[in-house]
Amino acid sequence: HDSKKSRLVTSTVSKELQNGGDGVIDLDHGDPTMYERFWHEMGEKSTFVIAGHQSISYFSDVRNLCWFLEPEFANSVVRLHKIVGNAITEDRHIVVGTGSTQLFQAVLYALSPPNASEPMSVVSAAPFYSLYPLLTDYLMSALYKWAGDAYEFSKDGPYIELVTSPNNPDGSTREPVVRRTKGLLVHDLAYYWPQYTPISFPADHDIMLFTVSKSTGHAGIRLGWALVKDREIAKKMTNFIELNTIGVSRDSQLRAAKILQAVSESYDYVGNSKETEPFFEYGYNIMAKRWKQLRAAVNKSKLFSLPDFPPGTCTFSGRTFESQPAFAWLKCEGEIEDCESFLRSHKIWTRGGKYFGVSSKYVRISTLSRDETFDLFTERLSAMELESP
Ligand code: PMP
Repeated sequence: HDSKKSRLVTSTVSKELQNGGDGVIDLDHGDPTMYERFWHEMGEKSTFVIAGHQSISYFSDVRNLCWFLEPEFANSVVRLHKIVGNAITEDRHIVVGTGSTQLFQAVLYALSPPNASEPMSVVSAAPFYSLYPLLTDYLMSALYKWAGDAYEFSKDGPYIELVTSPNNPDGSTREPVVRRTKGLLVHDLAYYWPQYTPISFPADHDIMLFTVSKSTGHAGIRLGWALVKDREIAKKMTNFIELNTIGVSRDSQLRAAKILQAVSESYDYVGNSKETEPFFEYGYNIMAKRWKQLRAAVNKSKLFSLPDFPPGTCTFSGRTFESQPAFAWLKCEGEIEDCESFLRSHKIWTRGGKYFGVSSKYVRISTLSRDETFDLFTERLSAMELESP
């Protein structure tokens, strides 16, 4: 815990250093500052003013199963999914959370029977999102327990499998791997948006998690949403959030509604006189440019490799392209065993493979930083040689 905490603190400090000249490039966290420029250009169209008399009550909509869900936010979520075609929203309950991080914990609570003789096993295929094991075990719950890599899981009985697609850290498209009858599936679709990967079908799973952090880039708003088929599960998730934080910031939901609407509306003008580039076009174009730049740097230095992705046709944009994930899953080739330390010695901060349940020859690198940071990073990477620094 301490080391995690100090990682967070030191990362914040490094933000100062990035611009301060000591040359540290911090790409450890997936902080989506890449999107600032778009929202800056959007200006008034994404500005939301909240008056003093608003959001006084705890309650947003007492008739809804999720009584702290703002109807405006719910509507903007449904509208956006319909435009993008990445998830079915019909016959689903929407549960809002303080980031999908809170929803993740609400899901574990909702899916674990309270009277079981032992904790429910929670698994995900390695490399898995580094926070899953920490979030599952930090309270040492009697309800559920981290059981590691889904490929290695052989225990009988019920389990929860987290299916992250596209995956954090490696960007791969995923399906469940355990495939036993007593399995409960949670689909974490944080990155199933057309700037990162071709949308191939509207996802139709029982429990799907999304977040504004990776869709619009507003990580600081701290909002996520779950699309849940089963009423009882949605109710238990709502109960968890009631006990955990008595609901979710109404102000955040109102602001997020405005932002999601601005994304949807950026498509109303397509083909007309475009004032602003539509949101996912902006995201797609930057990601395409960055991945090209990154692959060129990796080819030049010859010390690393990156995964390849099969091309797919996006039902949303009509484009055929290869995934351009929010993280680069970089492998140190040859004799470098600890890729995180090696890059750190070049003042590039990343997150090593061991946090994701695999070899330390791998690191995860955020590709969602501001332009200057990303340019500096690829420049430094391409110039890297083994005998330095
Ligand atoms: N799931 C995945 C796979 C993620 O990468 C992240 C963010 N790094 C989250 C969930 C959590 O997102 P947030 O709490 O910001 O909504």
